[in-house]
Order: sequence, then C-alpha cells, then structure tokens
Amino acid sequence: MQTNRPFEYLIPETLTDVVVPGMRVEVPFGRGRRKIQGFVMRVKETSDFQGKLKPIARVIDLKPVLSDEMLKLSYWLADRTYSFQISCLQTMLPSVMRAKYKQYVVAIDEVDPEVVRLFNGKPTFEITGQLDDETIKLINRLRRNNKIDIQYVVENQALQVKRQAVTTDLNVIQLHEAKSKLRANAKSQIKLLEYLADHLDELPIEFSDLQKEFGVSRAAIKTAEKNDLVRVVEVTKLRKPVGITPEQTTKMKLTEEQQAAVDQINSAIETENPQTFLVEGVTGSGKTEVYLQTIEKALQQEKTALMLVPEISLTPQMVNRVVGRFGDQVAVLHSGLSNGERYDEWTRIENRDVKVVVGARSAVFAPLEHIGLIIIDEEHEGSYKQDDNPRYHARDVALWRAQVNKCPVVLGSATPSLESRARAEKGVYQLIRMKKRINNKNLPQVKIVDMRDSENSAVKGDFSPVLRENLQETLDQHNQAIILLNRRGYSSFMMCRECGFVLKCPNCDVSLTYHKDLGKMKCHYCGHDEPVPQFCPNCKSKKIGFYGTGTQNIEQQLNDLFPQARVLRMDVDTTRRKGAHAKILKQFGDHKADILLGTQMIAKGLDFPDVTLVGVINADTTLSLADFRASERTFQLLTQVSGRAGRAEKTGHVVIQTFNPDHYAIKDASTQDYETFFKQEMYIRHQSNYTPYYFTALISVANQDEGKTLKQSYWLKKQLQTALSKDAILLGPSPTMISRKQNKYYYQIIVKYKHEPKLHQRLLEILNETQADAKNGFTIAIDNEPQHID
Ligand code: ADP
Ligand code: ZN
Ligand code: ZN
Repeated sequence: MQTNRPFEYLIPETLTDVVVPGMRVEVPFGRGRRKIQGFVMRVKETSDFQGKLKPIARVIDLKPVLSDEMLKLSYWLADRTYSFQISCLQTMLPSVMRAKYKQYVVAIDEVDPEVVRLFNGKPTFEITGQLDDETIKLINRLRRNNKIDIQYVVENQALQVKRQAVTTDLNVIQLHEAKSKLRANAKSQIKLLEYLADHLDELPIEFSDLQKEFGVSRAAIKTAEKNDLVRVVEVTKLRKPVGITPEQTTKMKLTEEQQAAVDQINSAIETENPQTFLVEGVTGSGKTEVYLQTIEKALQQEKTALMLVPEISLTPQMVNRVVGRFGDQVAVLHSGLSNGERYDEWTRIENRDVKVVVGARSAVFAPLEHIGLIIIDEEHEGSYKQDDNPRYHARDVALWRAQVNKCPVVLGSATPSLESRARAEKGVYQLIRMKKRINNKNLPQVKIVDMRDSENSAVKGDFSPVLRENLQETLDQHNQAIILLNRRGYSSFMMCRECGFVLKCPNCDVSLTYHKDLGKMKCHYCGHDEPVPQFCPNCKSKKIGFYGTGTQNIEQQLNDLFPQARVLRMDVDTTRRKGAHAKILKQFGDHKADILLGTQMIAKGLDFPDVTLVGVINADTTLSLADFRASERTFQLLTQVSGRAGRAEKTGHVVIQTFNPDHYAIKDASTQDYETFFKQEMYIRHQSNYTPYYFTALISVANQDEGKTLKQSYWLKKQLQTALSKDAILLGPSPTMISRKQNKYYYQIIVKYKHEPKLHQRLLEILNETQADAKNGFTIAIDNEPQHID
C-alpha cells in the first residue's frame, strides 16, 4: 500500500553532512528486511517520532538530483494534482536518473592532497555499494568544495563519444625550449609545439581539431608522444541531439505590434515581475520573433529562459528558429531523444552550459536556475496536460516556477484556451493582441462548402467540386496545397449525411457516443442512454450513420483525381520512425511534393511560402466529440490550419467542407475571428455550467468486475455528496468512452463547482482511503481540470 507522507530516518554518524535534501537514499521500510528507495526531503536536528528511528541504509546519489526548487514544487504539485508526492518527485527526476546508470568520481583539483589520496593513481572510479562510509563522506566533502565531481553514466548506452586528444605537461617556456632543440626540418613537430604553446588553456585538444585547423598529422603527434613532449588522452564529447540543422538567423526589425509586445514583456523581465502575458496573435503575426527577442533580453540580464512547445517532433520549425538564433546555448528536450541524448542535454543544463531550454511538456521541470522568462507556445494545446499520474498541466507548473524565479510567463496562441482568455478578461493575465499579419498580408480567403448540398454529397468521394477546382488551380500554378483530414473524432458518434444533424444528450449538450458492448448511444457526462436511431430524428432521412474516413482512402482519391500530383501523406503510420516527421516536412518544404495530406499533426506552426491552398475534408469530426471543448477544439484546429495558407507573397485560399456550415465555430474560424468566437463560446459555457465558469474534477474508477466498479462509484459519489454544497453539480457515474480497457470497466463521476471549500480536503482523503482498494484491483484516479472527458 502506498503512503503519501514523509518518514523520518536516522542519519548514521558517518553520513552526517553527506545526506542533504534532493538526494536519493536506500532505507529499510516496514517489517522485515525490505529496502526501498526514498528522497531526502529535509534534514532535521531532532525527531518528533516516538519510537526508535531506523537508520538510512546507504546514499544512492552523492549529489542531489533534485534542487530545492523542485522539492518545494513537489508539495504543491502533489496537492494540486491529487497524486502521491513520490510520483511527483519521480516525474521531475530526469528520466536518465530513472534508468540504470553508474556513478563515477572525477577529479577537478588534481593536486589537492586529499584528492590524490582518494584516487590513488586511478583516473576515475565508480561509486558502488561497497564504498565505506568514511570514503563516501570524504567524497561528499570534496564535491562540495569543488575538488571533485560526480558523473552519471547510463548503462547499455553509448553515452558519450570518446575521442583522442593531445595534452602536455610542459609549460610555455619548456615548450619553446623543446622546440628550439628540434631540427629545422621537423616542421610538423615545430608546428605542433607552437600550436600547443598558443593554446595551453584549451588543453586537451582533439586530434581532429589539430588535423583540421593546423594540418598536424597523427604521425607527428605520435613522435611527440615518444619524445615525452605530449601525452595522448581520451576525452569524452557530448553528442548533439539529432535532426536539427538550423541556419543562423539574426534579429529582425520589429513591426509596431511586435515592438509593443516585446517592450511590455522585456520590462517585466527587467523588473523581475512574475506577470503572465497572453499574446493573442493571428497566424502569421510574428509571435516567434517576439519570443526570440524577449529570450535575448533574459540572457542579457544574465538569466535563463524556458520555452515550451506542444510536442517537439511536431514543431521542428520552431525549434530550428530558436537554435538558429541562440546556437549552442540551447538545449532541446523531447521524447524522440534516446536516454543518452537526453542525458547529454540534461548535463548541459545542470552544468549551466546552456541558457535556453526548449522542450515539450516535461521540460517544465528542467533544472534551470535563475529563470528570467518562461514561454508557452500554442498555449491552448491539450498535450500540455499529462494524461497519467501526476495529471499536471505544464502551464500551472510554469506559473508556479515564475513566482519562485520572479520572472514573467508568456502564453502565446492565435487561438487561446477559453480559460486563459477569460483570465485575461479579468485582468489576471495581461492581454497583448497582435491583429495584423507581417507586412500587412491578408488573411487567407475562406470558402465554406456545405456538404449537405446535393451537388457535393452526390459526387462520389470526399472532394467537393469547389475543393477539386481549387486544387487543380493550385497545381496549375505550381503552388502547394495542404489537405487536412480531421480524424480526432472517433467513428462512434452519429451524424445525418442529409442534414448534418448530430445526436446529442438532452441534458448535457454534448454528442452521444456509441457503445458497442451495450448496443446503445450513451452520454459520458450524465450517463443518459438511448437506442441507436434508425433514421434521422431531424429530417427523417435514413442516411444517419457513423462517421469517419481514413487518410489512405483520401490519398487514393487524390491519386485518382490528380494523377500528376505528388502527394505526401503524414499520419501515425508514416511518422512512426524516428525523424520521419521532419523528413516529410523537409521534402515538402523543398517543394518535392505538391500536396501534403495529413491529420491534426499538419495543422500546427508550419510556415511554407509556396502553400496557397488549405483544404479541410471534414470539419465536423471534432465538432461532434462528446466533450464540452468540442467547439473550441474545432475552432482552434480550423484557424490553425487555415493560417498555413498564404503566409508569403502569394494569396492564400482555404476550403472547408462541412455538414454544419452555420456553426459558429466554423464560421468564426473562416474569418479567423477569435474574439467573436470567444464571446459566443463563453455564452454557451455559461449556459451549460462549464469551464471557465465552473471548476471541474473528474473521478474515475476501474475494476475487472463491472458490478464492483459501479458499486464503488456510487460509494464515491456518496462520499463526495457529504462534502459538497447544493450549488455543486455532481454527474454520473457513467461509463467512459471505451468502457472496457484491458478487461477493466471504467466509470467516472464529474464534479462541477464554483466554491466548495471542503471538496479539496475530501478528495485528498478519498485518495488516501481508497489506497487499500487498490489491493483489490481498483484503480481510482482524480483528474483536476480534465482536458478531455472520454
Ligand atoms: P506566427 O507564429 O505568429 O504564426 P511567425 O512567427 O511564424 O508567425 O511569423 C510569420 C512569418 O513572418 C515568418 O516567416 C517570420 O520569419 C516572418 N517575420 C516575423 N517577424 C518579422 C519581421 N519583424 N519582419 C519581417 N518578417 C518577419
Ligand atoms: Zn437529418
Ligand atoms: Zn448527458
């Protein structure tokens, strides 16, 4: 059974001063001899514990793996996400520390007598469980005094590249003496000694550098070594994360809107004001340059900068721009890195070799110090919320770190989340709007194609005449097109192909979902169910059915319609291999294809000058999600993907095919009118008591036995009821989207509330109380402010 509290242990005499917060230790736990791993949270002079304290068995790390800031953060994070603090600590830990690794001691001050004694002639040695406490204590003291360092090496990984290098024990005078003793025709030797004399502070120097820059041959080095003039050593070299080939860029002259944004943010950086800015800038308004020039400001202030992007492998262009501007000072963290690569980047951050960290969600825990600016690009993205325990939102963590580091946060998006925009409305965030595209370029012209129209639905296939004509024109003009197949929606909702009607819950205003196992349509919020309709309740047509088309199918249709066109397909199937995503984008960027066909992953952040047409095959699928964010997601997706067209000199066109041409999410997206959408959507959220008018908590229960799951759910509901006032709304229990996963049944309860002072405590108690149930195969999870409900 897990326990969610710290335990006290005795620090053995020998480990006094060694044990400090942020280290991991091995401790005996419970009865018997079981030893487990723990984090040192705090060191106290005395203990309040009544019984006899057990001593720490051994220290695992010789230097803290988590900073004080992270330890502090773990308390807040556990509380906020209703998870165990230990899982928060583990989440923050760089993944390399979770892998199998070894620790080595390396000398910094090689002449210190204690260091000499410790190393006993060895260049480095491994820290194993066999080291006695005295040695550990010595190692620790030397490390704190900067005389030695501890390095981690991941097992089973070619961690660091080893290279041959040259060093010398001679000083400048001795080198010149040695040179003068050489024969005049020993040119190579002379060159080498001269070079070393000039670069004594850069020793050791790699063979390859000597050869490249100075033409010193390997033979010359070997000769010098034989004559005891130099020594050949091995150096370890950090690898560069792969797939990034940025061109160097320089500061652009800012537009008025950009300048205004930069001024405000820079002034907050200067005054160390932990303000949050919401930069609401239309697509192509130049948000990236604002990020870059504010990062520059932070660096000028001797601070660091942290930048989050949705998922790096999906936004290579953004990463390239940051690396292009700040070069070696940037570390990139993303899921595509191997353990070894991630270790390299992490080490560079820890050693303070980098000033800027760009990464996906978990990079928000990067061990940066003195953060001067935190940026979250595409702040509305759902991927900033972790789906598993601890269910944290990177934005919340960023705001917390900003308070501690006294730095501003910049949230950027063309389509901010309703929550953030509402906070800006209230003045909690500072709103900065960028309404114009760079060079006053026009927004693309958008046509909405009504697929209920017989002309469109009569045609065979998924391409309306309008979209076909536009594609033909684009191809004729040798421009490029992006075709989006909106696949977020599952084929489990019902839509009428005659009138666009979608079957919805009478209580919740979200679409009903088909549950195969029940053979019924069901609501995920309140549990309402009804039979699968045989004809459309709206127009009585029999063309009501499940909706969904695959990318391969669309690709085939494209090939049939435009045999000459070169089509690139980007979806989960074609991007499975590492780097495949970047490769496809590069091909398209080099104009080696005419049409890029893809799912959601092509909607974000791409900036290709030759793209003049964006076509959306089925705008409705996201609209029909059984989720109150369905309209918001649809608006965001359509606005983002439309923004890919006409970014350079050429005018852009967008064709959106839909069965719901009058829906405000689609209409407002077609004019890129976020503000109008925001007002309308806020109205609807208000009407149906959703975020941001209400807070939401989702409690889910899973068990192999459906009866037990339901019983437990009702018990939980009762528990909640006792803590809630009558203003709170309690929905469920209802089965989730896929009510059976891995042979477990899933039920959920939703709490919507405004002000429930007792709820938080009650949820924490439930979390603790239900731990015993975990033994009986129950999984109980609490999701604070869920991103999606399915
Ligand atoms: P957003 O992220 O707001 O959609 P980008 O940052 O991608 O927009 O900028 C759109 C384009 O405008 C990019 O090609 C960028 O290089 C260019 N750009 C940005 N700022 C300027 C500027 N001040 N002067 C000239 N071009 C700019
Ligand atoms: Zn109908
Ligand atoms: Zn309902």
